[in-house]
Amino acid sequence: MPRPIRRRLVVATALVAATAAAVTVTSSAGAFDSAQAARAVVEGGQAKNVILLIGDGMGDSEITLARDYTVGADGRLNMDGFPLTGAYTTYAVHEDGTPDYVTDSAASGTGWATGVKTVNGRISKTPGTDKAVPTLLELAQKRGYATGSVTTAELTDATPAVLASHATDRSCQGPADMAKCPADTLAAGGPGSIAEQSVNHRVDVLLGGGGKRFDQKVTDGAYRGLTVTEQARKLGYQVVTDSAGLRGVKPGRPVLGLFAPGNVPVEWTGRPAAVGGTDPQRCVTSNPNRPAGTPSLADSVARAIELLEAKQRRKHSERGFFLQIEGASIDKQDHAADPCGQIGETAAFDRAVELARAYAARHPDTLVVTTADHGHSSQIVPLEAAPPGLSSTLVTDEGQRLKVNYSTNTPGQSQEHTGTQVRIAAQGPQAYRVLGVTDQTDLFTTISEALRLR
Ligand code: MG
Ligand code: ZN
Repeated sequence: MPRPIRRRLVVATALVAATAAAVTVTSSAGAFDSAQAARAVVEGGQAKNVILLIGDGMGDSEITLARDYTVGADGRLNMDGFPLTGAYTTYAVHEDGTPDYVTDSAASGTGWATGVKTVNGRISKTPGTDKAVPTLLELAQKRGYATGSVTTAELTDATPAVLASHATDRSCQGPADMAKCPADTLAAGGPGSIAEQSVNHRVDVLLGGGGKRFDQKVTDGAYRGLTVTEQARKLGYQVVTDSAGLRGVKPGRPVLGLFAPGNVPVEWTGRPAAVGGTDPQRCVTSNPNRPAGTPSLADSVARAIELLEAKQRRKHSERGFFLQIEGASIDKQDHAADPCGQIGETAAFDRAVELARAYAARHPDTLVVTTADHGHSSQIVPLEAAPPGLSSTLVTDEGQRLKVNYSTNTPGQSQEHTGTQVRIAAQGPQAYRVLGVTDQTDLFTTISEALRLR
């Protein structure tokens, strides 16, 4: 697509000029003494590390809702602090390549992970021909980067799956789940389930939920009769199930953290939205169903970064790492029309963003990108509105009432994704590429260019 590329070069040139001017002024006052760092924000260059944060279903209204509730309408979240912000389109395609305006996390993930749009439900394989396409994580491994994936969902859920597996359908998560992927089974000469492929990829750090998928028994091949967890141990993985275990792992061998049988339990609870609304409610910023010893997303991210750095240090590698971090249950609580669950997960994700940006402040050769994979249902509506569908009134931390509505599906059904463009924000080498209105597949190019993967 020559036109957008040309536009971005013009934007980048203008920004470099503007930044150079700003540096001249401020450096004489001593306030900003790093022209190099300032230029790196807008100019390109090569990244040593990339941290990609995906808020699943985190459209503009999900961000605004979390901001209003936690820091107030004129407050700013950590994710609001990136120097460069744009929007990107997220549509999927049908088997024949025509647009499917509302994406799921599998097709959107395939878009950013491979640069190729596909059909809803598919994991890093083409539409129509169903052929595997190389992913950012695979390319980064080949170039000698350490790699990691951290999520609050099952590690076999669509967003982490797009990096370390290829499957005809996202449901093929464990060896017993292969009904919709006949060509992917080991018996058919395929690569096996998403769980098996993920550990076979020897990703250095895999942290999330989904223990019950890894407890399933492998049905064919070299590991037949073993569970996927046992297969992982044979492949050298250290397997841990809680915070203490995660603290105790040693650098040098890959780590598989399975912190829940399914999705990691959410951080906050409250009353779900209801037909006709709820009484004004404050969210409960704890969850009795979240076992003690379950690491927070930020805890997992901090440990992941330590482990990835340690691996590269031991190898004396000048390459850094590629780390994907997913706030998965923003989406899942949006589907459930549970505003407190949703806001708590967005706040937890924002603490992971804070950590990533703090790391990048110490390591400016780190590209940090925060975005969503698609928009979602929640809308902030006037207090006097009587919207159809499900709604709830919240009392925010600044003491004001806020009404949120979920009306993308019939009450009682799962609320739906939307086809809106979403925010993408970044800092560091190649970050200028997120400016303007781009497409989800352009994020693949941004990261590929930053890490010189092609
Ligand atoms: Mg997801
Ligand atoms: Zn969803």
